[in-house]
Amino acid sequence: MKIRTDIADLLRAGHSDREISRVLHLDNRTIAAVRTELGLPRHKSGIKAAGSPRDLFRQRTRPVDGGHLEWTGYVANDGTPFFRWNKRGYTAGRMAFGMQHGRAPVGRVRPGCGHLGCVAPSHVEDQPMRDQLKRQLAGIFGGAA
Ligand SMILES: [Zn+2]
Repeated sequence: MKIRTDIADLLRAGHSDREISRVLHLDNRTIAAVRTELGLPRHKSGIKAAGSPRDLFRQRTRPVDGGHLEWTGYVANDGTPFFRWNKRGYTAGRMAFGMQHGRAPVGRVRPGCGHLGCVAPSHVEDQPMRDQLKRQLAGIFGGAA
């Protein structure tokens, strides 16, 4: 099947079959066939869900004084801020870390700002960052590096 790029672009941008059929003057079945061909999930109508895990992260956080970001969503039994998006689970700390550093964290993610439970992307640290800070402090103040 030859896929029309105009249909593919609109589908990938997240538009519904109905919206696309209206703007391109095509019938819904043509759009649906392209959607299937591209392996894209059916568009869900109704309440607009968060478009990405980042969106959901932002929806469930609240900025507080000092530039910190508090988690307002679900917290797991062990105290980890946690959320699900599109059937995948994410911890808020790892999400925040990835947003800031563009890589997955190594080890546990903790706030480095001293604000309990802070998930501000620029405040969270992973194990290698803590190790490096420890080495720097040891270099300044002496002691075993
Ligand atoms: Zn903070």
